[in-house]
Amino acid sequence: MKTSLFKSALLGLIALALGCLLCGRVDQPARAQAPTYDLVIVNARIVDGSGNPWFRGDVAIKDGRIARIGRIAPETAAKTIDAKGQILAPGFIDVHTHVESIYSTPTADNFVRMGVTSLVTGNCGSSTTNVGQFLGRLQEKPLAVNLATLIGHGSVRRDAMGAEDRAPTPDELKKMESLVEQAMKDGAVGLSTGLIYVPGTYAKTDEIVDLARIVSRYGGLYATHMRNEGDKVADAIRESISIGEQAGLPVEISHFKISNKKLWGQTPMTLGLVREARARGLSVTVDQYAYTASSTSLSSRLPSWLQAGGFEEAKKRLADKATRERAINDTKDALKRSGFKDYSFAVVASYGPDKSFNGKSIAEITKQVRNKTDVTSQIEQMLAMYEAGGASMIYHGMNEDDVKRIMQEPFTMIASDAGVRQVDDSVPHPRGYGNNVRVLGHYVRDLKLISLEDAIRKMTSLPAQTFGFRDRGMIREGFAADLVIFDEKTIVDQATYDKPHQFPLGISYVLVNGAVVLANNQLTEARPGVGLRGPGYAQTDNQKISNR
Ligand SMILES: [Zn+2]
Repeated sequence: MKTSLFKSALLGLIALALGCLLCGRVDQPARAQAPTYDLVIVNARIVDGSGNPWFRGDVAIKDGRIARIGRIAPETAAKTIDAKGQILAPGFIDVHTHVESIYSTPTADNFVRMGVTSLVTGNCGSSTTNVGQFLGRLQEKPLAVNLATLIGHGSVRRDAMGAEDRAPTPDELKKMESLVEQAMKDGAVGLSTGLIYVPGTYAKTDEIVDLARIVSRYGGLYATHMRNEGDKVADAIRESISIGEQAGLPVEISHFKISNKKLWGQTPMTLGLVREARARGLSVTVDQYAYTASSTSLSSRLPSWLQAGGFEEAKKRLADKATRERAINDTKDALKRSGFKDYSFAVVASYGPDKSFNGKSIAEITKQVRNKTDVTSQIEQMLAMYEAGGASMIYHGMNEDDVKRIMQEPFTMIASDAGVRQVDDSVPHPRGYGNNVRVLGHYVRDLKLISLEDAIRKMTSLPAQTFGFRDRGMIREGFAADLVIFDEKTIVDQATYDKPHQFPLGISYVLVNGAVVLANNQLTEARPGVGLRGPGYAQTDNQKISNR
């Protein structure tokens, strides 16, 4: 028995060797079979972006897209990433950014390192007015992340009629309409407004409705930094909804908040207005950053009449004693209405003429420079800083309970309101380094305010659905392979108001269109980002550029 077994085994081996030799001869030169996939991520807990509970699985990628989800043998792919049981989610889509300068920092480090793979810029009424050129630059200057833009009403208005505080003439309106129409044809995803800023603030509702109608024709949305986020926030929400209703397009209320101390706790009312609109069949959504401080210009706290016609005009007005007095009184009234007793809630993020001001409040600076503590002196200090070129500010004006309530609402998405950060002398808002991660670490894990799956939904499929990125924001076969792998037990934001220039921890990998842009805490050389163009682009005669 033993001998015959041995013999047949031996014969078998010989036959095998011969067979191999033969096949080697037939198929020379011998080649390994080409792998089916470019990359497979194994051993992941997949949170697919839909809000469904996580499931275990592997994800295979081919040509920048998700080719298969399931159990996938590593040898079928050229490369393997072992997720080691960590969370695999769609890359985060940040729909509220200000990254007009992204081509000078194509790595977009601060976004990539918090798991963001797609950005929507052109918010708050401020954008390029040449969308075709802006997105076209991606060809010669590739980016690490995908990029979309809105067309900013303020920028269009400035192009057509400067910083004038009046309604546009018919010709000026026509110019604005044609700029907006061209932007939509060039691939803008919608129209943005910044109705507290010069010059957007000078526009009446009908002007915006007129432009929004054009955007509606091209399938875009209306994203708004509302006219008021303080004492008149309810009116401002109503105006936003009414613009969407009249023009027939979806409304996205940007950085939804209450920044008036007297109205703290009123988010059930403000969210209620959005819910009512939705109940009437109007598409209204909001976005939010996960902090109780906002960040914007110093000049946004000064009267808009003062700034009509531009900076030089404002300086001339301030040189007149009576007008200066009026500006101080109006600013004082606005402070009173906002419920704050002085400007200790207003902290300088960046002030060019004197960097020692950065990180200090207006109250502290006034004490230091003028040895005064009264509000009038603080406003005088603000005017002096405005006349010297202005400052970027952080305003600690919100209430934590309101932030939480907004976050829990199903139609709220998570967006940073940040730009591309450079480590320098300024002390910017920490949201640019930590926003998504703060939600996942602080609000999901530590406070258990919302579930992990819901938080991911707010960062992925909800923004994709709202802004029309039909093949992104979910882990689905055929979708673009924008992915992030992170450890939900250790993920933590490190950026603080005092020390904002700190990257978060706990994100292991970030992939954009199937290419690894972050691995082992290191950015790679890959620049796989593409332009994400709105539906108006496909309606034009231009060659349709696919999302890959
Ligand atoms: Zn804004």
